[in-house]
Amino acid sequence: MHCPFCGAVDTKVIDSRLVSDGNHVRRRRECITCEERFTTYESAELVMPRIIKSDGSREPFHEDKLRDGLQKALEKRPVSVELVEAAINRIKGELRAGGEREIPSVMVGEAVMKELRELDEVAFVRFASVYRSFKDLEEFRQEIERLSRASD
Ligand SMILES: [Zn+2]
Repeated sequence: MHCPFCGAVDTKVIDSRLVSDGNHVRRRRECITCEERFTTYESAELVMPRIIKSDGSREPFHEDKLRDGLQKALEKRPVSVELVEAAINRIKGELRAGGEREIPSVMVGEAVMKELRELDEVAFVRFASVYRSFKDLEEFRQEIERLSRASD
């Protein structure tokens, strides 16, 4: 693992522990050259379904995009990195659970909304407002219907 600060090749692990979800290892590393410290997360790579976008095109599942989306919604909110990583893990588990090779992107959005609703109400509203604006009118109508059914 190269040092992200100076690019040196040699870094040493100074602490290593399992993250609370049990599926990730968090490592504190120190650069031997510049002595800066940084953290890495490791997890086993599992095959994720491909994502069917609303225009019908397919793309690989990108965990980084998922993390970016969550972090953007959670910006300046009091939610720890560990909780975010655990949420990402649950979302991935849920997307894999059906055993499908391809899933609609809507499923990802729904899974994110479910997690954010539990994590932080402000982040949930932020994400929902952005996410919904990407949906077409029909999807928006269905969402409203679903929400009004849920509150009956
Ligand atoms: Zn360095």
